[in-house]
Amino acid sequence: MICRDCGSEMKQETAKASKPYHYEWSGMSHVYLIGIQVYSCPACGEQYGAIPRIDALHALISEILLEKPTALTGEELRFIRKNVDIAAQDFARLLGITPVHLSRLEHEKSKVTPTLDKLARALVAVSSGGELKEILLGATRKRKKPAKTSILTLKRNHWEGAA
Ligand SMILES: [Zn+2]
Repeated sequence: MICRDCGSEMKQETAKASKPYHYEWSGMSHVYLIGIQVYSCPACGEQYGAIPRIDALHALISEILLEKPTALTGEELRFIRKNVDIAAQDFARLLGITPVHLSRLEHEKSKVTPTLDKLARALVAVSSGGELKEILLGATRKRKKPAKTSILTLKRNHWEGAA
């Protein structure tokens, strides 16, 4: 492989436990990969990792983060949000905070409180099932006033009603 930056021939090696690949592209500073092919440029120091099955990798990272015993950091919060493909604006609405506040959390300028931590994890966990995510997002987007009463109608053998 030829270096995209300087055109030199790159060196290929497998990332090992003794020299793991720093997966900076994840947006997190503490994620390293082992077993992938890494191309390094001896001339300019540029490095690329060839990452197969990236969706499965991201799903695994997200699962590990959701089960983490300590509070999520801002960059971890951003990773799990992006992994379920929820826009920052929408996620802020779901959490009941402003987009500015969410941005401060994700950029480590403000601390993730225990309540927000648990709520964010729960929202991400249910959002990995697509239908629940749409229900949640729909509920925060409703502009019109909600009805004061809910009317449910028995039709033959099932109930019908609108939220
Ligand atoms: Zn180079």
